[in-house]
Amino acid sequence: MKTCRKCGHEIQDDFNVCPYCGSRQDNKITCQNCGAIVEDDVAFCPRCGKDPRVKQASTTVHYSTRPSYSYDDKPIKGKALGVLIVFLLSIIGFILVYVIGDEEAKQGAKIMLIVEICLGVFLGILMGIVMCAGMSAAGY
Ligand SMILES: [Zn+2]
Ligand SMILES: [Zn+2]
Repeated sequence: MKTCRKCGHEIQDDFNVCPYCGSRQDNKITCQNCGAIVEDDVAFCPRCGKDPRVKQASTTVHYSTRPSYSYDDKPIKGKALGVLIVFLLSIIGFILVYVIGDEEAKQGAKIMLIVEICLGVFLGILMGIVMCAGMSAAGY
């Protein structure tokens, strides 16, 4: 008989896994992230590169969000600039219609302003994404 390396229960000598706590008895552990059997003294799983003892949250979220935050503030400036330009253009257009247009044109201009603000925000974000992509393509 031998005792479990983890919980101390007596188990049969030929048991590779403790029937009481489920821990392996052969200096190996099951990676919590990818399920690979790895040596219990490794800091990182050779298959997935994570700590095999710590189950980590889904990394797909990290991969998609990290690039937009790890860069410096240039893409954010580009985003703000894009929004500002479209916003200013729509304001100018709105004022022009308001000064020279009749009542019907003013109503139309109001709707156009709302649409243009929405469009401006969208275009600004789009510009930011394009700039991010451009920067990463340039080797950033
Ligand atoms: Zn055990
Ligand atoms: Zn792993």
